[in-house]
Amino acid sequence: MQRNTIQIKGQSFGDDSLQIIAGPCTIENLDSLLSIASSLSEIGIKCLRGGAYKLRTSVHSFRGLGDIAIDYLQEAGQRFNMITVSEITEVAKVDYMAERIDVLLVGTRNMQNYPLLDRLGKFSNPIILKRGMAATITEWLQAAEYIVEAGNSNVILCERGIRTFEDATRNTLDISAVPVIKATSSFPIIVDPSHSTGKRELVKSMSFAAIAGGANGVMIETNHFPDQSLCDARQTVAINEFASFIAPLKSIWSIVNSA
Ligand code: PEP
Ligand code: MN
Repeated sequence: MQRNTIQIKGQSFGDDSLQIIAGPCTIENLDSLLSIASSLSEIGIKCLRGGAYKLRTSVHSFRGLGDIAIDYLQEAGQRFNMITVSEITEVAKVDYMAERIDVLLVGTRNMQNYPLLDRLGKFSNPIILKRGMAATITEWLQAAEYIVEAGNSNVILCERGIRTFEDATRNTLDISAVPVIKATSSFPIIVDPSHSTGKRELVKSMSFAAIAGGANGVMIETNHFPDQSLCDARQTVAINEFASFIAPLKSIWSIVNSA
C-alpha cells in the first residue's frame, strides 16, 4: 500500500527516505543537550529526540525537567537545524508543545488516551503514535484513526515492543508488525529498538532488523555517556558507537527499497 508521506522541514517520513531519530531519553540540562545535538548533527542526524515529562513506572525515578526542557529542545533544534521530537503526556500540555516542538510523540502508556488523541487531531504537527505495550495492531490502528478523524492525518506509527512472557528483553519487539502495518494501512512506521529491547547491546541488530523488515525509520536513545543517563541508561547507546550504525542502516534501506 502507498505510504502517506509526511513532510517536515525538508525531510520526509514515508517510503522515499530513511529517517533516524536520535537523542537522550530525557533532557537533563541545556549544555548536555546542545552537545548531543551538535555531535548527532555532525554525523548527519536530522531528528533530535528528548523527553521533558517522563511517565515513570516508579514515582521515585527521575521524571524530567518539565516545561524548561521543551524550551531547551526548541533551542537545540533551532541552533542545529534539527527536527525536534518529544513526548506529549497530557491534554494540558498540547498547546505549549505544539508551538515549540515539531513532532509530538504519544508514548505507549497513552496510546488509548482518547481525549489526548482528539486534541492532537486539532494540530498539524506530525504525531508519532507508539504502540501500547498490550495493544493489538488493530487497536493501535484504531487509536491512530482518532487523530486522523479529529483532523490531523500526519500520523507516524512506532513499534516499541509489547509485553509477553519473555523476560530476556524489556519488551518483545514485534518486527512482524512492520510489514503488517505496511500491508494494511498507509501510515509511515518506525521502530524503537531502545525501549523494545531495554539493552544497548541489542539496539544495533534490532535497528538493522527494523529496516530490513521495511520500516521507514528508527528512533534510538543516544547519549555521550550512556551509563550516566538519568533515565533508561541500560538501553542508551554511546553516540560514537551509534555513528557506526548509520552506513549499514543506509545500505540495508537501499537494498530493501530497491527490491
Ligand atoms: C519514549 O520514547 O520517550 C518513551 C517514553 O517510550 P515508551 O512510551 O515506548 O516507553
Ligand atoms: Mn526512554
